[in-house]
Amino acid sequence: MSRMNCAERFLADALAEQAAAGRPFRPSSPGVIMVVLDHSGGLAAAREFSRASAVGAAGSEALRSALDERALVLAGPLDRAVVILFDSELHSADDLVTVTLDLLTRPIAIEGEEHFVQSRVGLATATNVGSDALDVLGRAAFAAAHVAMETGVQLHEATSSLLSEIRLAADLRTSMARAIDEDFELHYQPIVDLATTRILGYESLLRWRSGDDLLAPAAFLAAAEETSLILPIGRAGTRTALGKVAEWNEGGSVDKLFMSVNYSARQLSDALLFPHIERVLERVGVSPSTLWVEITERHLVDLASPATRTIEALADLGCVICVDDLGTGFAALRYLADLPVSVVKVDRSLVCSASDAASIRSVVGAVCDISHSLGIMAVAEGVESENQIPMLRDLGFTHAQGYYFGRPAPAAEIAEGRE
Ligand code: C2E
Ligand code: CA
Ligand code: CA
Repeated sequence: MSRMNCAERFLADALAEQAAAGRPFRPSSPGVIMVVLDHSGGLAAAREFSRASAVGAAGSEALRSALDERALVLAGPLDRAVVILFDSELHSADDLVTVTLDLLTRPIAIEGEEHFVQSRVGLATATNVGSDALDVLGRAAFAAAHVAMETGVQLHEATSSLLSEIRLAADLRTSMARAIDEDFELHYQPIVDLATTRILGYESLLRWRSGDDLLAPAAFLAAAEETSLILPIGRAGTRTALGKVAEWNEGGSVDKLFMSVNYSARQLSDALLFPHIERVLERVGVSPSTLWVEITERHLVDLASPATRTIEALADLGCVICVDDLGTGFAALRYLADLPVSVVKVDRSLVCSASDAASIRSVVGAVCDISHSLGIMAVAEGVESENQIPMLRDLGFTHAQGYYFGRPAPAAEIAEGRE
């Protein structure tokens, strides 16, 4: 490992240099503040690289004079990073962080010209991290700055579990990237006509086979979204799900099944999604109306955004646009008015509570009425018992889905059941 990439060596060397210069720095309770300057590369993008590369030195100089005797300020160990070492027994971490953040809200002089530099700050103290080893604190402060960068906050404080959490998350991302081509599978859950309980189509639900475990989306979807790995995983999912429904519809009954597929806002913002779906529909030979496109209400889709353009293009092509998880977010009524929506799926939490809470029943009934007046079909999600069916019919639901009608199952089991 190169010397400058190694936080431990960097800190040890810096302390040795201080001692050699006759200014030994021996904190009894060390603390580390890690500042990452121009973290998004905004200054480099707006100005020439040379000025941006001087930002580390300029930032550490400015911080050194603001913090004067209270801390040891070092440029590095990474480009554009500044490490601030202090003794939390002598100086409060809060005070030093306040001075640091205050300085970073003002322009910094770089090569004779002032620039505002976007920055993120991580703090690690012996008390919060549970260690007074400087190398551990250095790494924890950098990890905290990384969290601040990822979450868009100015300051993040390290905890004792932060390093292991970050390592686990990184390992999960690596395993997921390795798994894309082979280890993701789809399960399928029936959606029925509520009047007859006949199966009209299926929703595809993603599963990840990891070792002996079959993981549900709650275990990996957030990481897939953060890393954009959801894009290739989702494209493979579209291919598989449409391939399956083409198989099931081959030669069979007159009423063709539909396939409902979940797409996140990030997937819908991907310019490649629409041509991909168009190509797959053509290749597997099913009509666009076979594909129901589920968009969860929890992700806000901006009305003038690339995601909306994809939704509109898919609707123009003939796909069926569904608002999923209705009742869990804030946007749905606006979606119903402004997007080409044909189906709403009312979330299980509302469907469940409608059985025993009259107020929820009225809200759900009103949603069914609005949907009906807009020509939108209403699906009740998470139906677990036969007792719920009469009430759901009365409320105006046309479709239903839930464990009572069928649990999500692998394609082989569905095909067996259809024979
Ligand atoms: P969702 O779209 O609301 O899917 C329905 C979830 O409810 C599924 O969980 C399903 O297994 C579960 N469920 C269905 N009927 C019942 C019931 O009667 N009772 C109960 N308690 N649960 C029921 P699952 O498979 O864990 O999926 C969770 C979420 O992950 C999905 O919620 C969807 O938002 C997301 N997801 C699943 N597959 C994909 C995918 O391929 N792409 C994307 N972007 N998201 C997906
Ligand atoms: Ca769904
Ligand atoms: Ca749902």
